[in-house]
Amino acid sequence: MLKIDKGKSQQSTVNGQRSTVNGQQSTINSQPSTVNNRQLKNIVSQICLGMLLPLALFGCSQPNGGNNSQGDGKAQVVATSTIIADLTQEVAGDEVKVTGILKPGTDPHVYEPVPADSRVMETAKLILYNGYNLEPGLIKLMNAAGGKVKRVAVGEAVKPLQLDKGKGEIVPDPHVWGSAENAIAMVNAISDALIQLSPEDKEKFTQNATELTNEFKQLDKWINQQIQTIPVNKRKLVTTHDAFQYYGQAYQIAIAGTLIGISTEEQPSAQTVQRLVESIKKIGVDAIFAETTINPALIKTVAQEAGVKLAPNQLYSDSIGAKGSAGDTYIKMMQANTRTIVEALGGKYTPFQAKK
Ligand SMILES: [Zn+2]
Repeated sequence: MLKIDKGKSQQSTVNGQRSTVNGQQSTINSQPSTVNNRQLKNIVSQICLGMLLPLALFGCSQPNGGNNSQGDGKAQVVATSTIIADLTQEVAGDEVKVTGILKPGTDPHVYEPVPADSRVMETAKLILYNGYNLEPGLIKLMNAAGGKVKRVAVGEAVKPLQLDKGKGEIVPDPHVWGSAENAIAMVNAISDALIQLSPEDKEKFTQNATELTNEFKQLDKWINQQIQTIPVNKRKLVTTHDAFQYYGQAYQIAIAGTLIGISTEEQPSAQTVQRLVESIKKIGVDAIFAETTINPALIKTVAQEAGVKLAPNQLYSDSIGAKGSAGDTYIKMMQANTRTIVEALGGKYTPFQAKK
């Protein structure tokens, strides 16, 4: 029941255009720092899966999070991704209890739920998830939990870019938060859902959402200005997986190549790697980028073989950073990414300062 379906096709993007190649799929490892926890979780998960689910709900605890609170009388809201958890916390303030399932640095595409996740979902009054299949394991778990808990696909408030995965399979790109304008639509969806949950707090939610919107409008403008400091012929982004299409479109930087497609379930073939190396040599970028939710080993190899730099900082792609890192909130993650891109591609970075 908790098993995740793996995708069958593989995508790679070269020369600024999407193209697909056939290949085998397997799981890309998440960041080295999360491996131990993940292994531990998998072990617990396997033990728990041997039991009937209701038993597992009492019998197994989750080693890595999902701290669901009890007894403080506040309505429980569960968010799947770290990005949605952060935005929800900002809009909700102290009025509801927000619990995020994924931990910073965890890859949502390949996350395998543990039984404690279903307990958290079942005790929630509202589940906020990204949607467009960003988190297939958690969406499956949510659907299996039945229809009692209200759920809202926050990312689906944004009209998606459509991606061709090959063989005529068109899928929506789930990485909608890449544009700050889109994040405003997400904030509005979160605010609407929270107001429905707790109408007496409407004023507070609306005020928080308005402040956030104001900040994101400034962020949007700032990112645009920052990217424009990169010389035109260097405004090209080569990343590990295809998570920056919305960013690229909003801020006019070409997605010139990715090692893997929109889901990290795929393992690039030697051919894909070679094709990307050749492509990078041709387009002549100064640097390419690793990402915080994906093992950087392969993109490092690509950089070496292509003779280009790997940017010193990784991009926060599908998760905010751990507490205390440069990207530990959505707004900081967008600033950190922009700084990393601007500095690696020869632009001139100036810090973001929001006016209230
Ligand atoms: Zn992704």
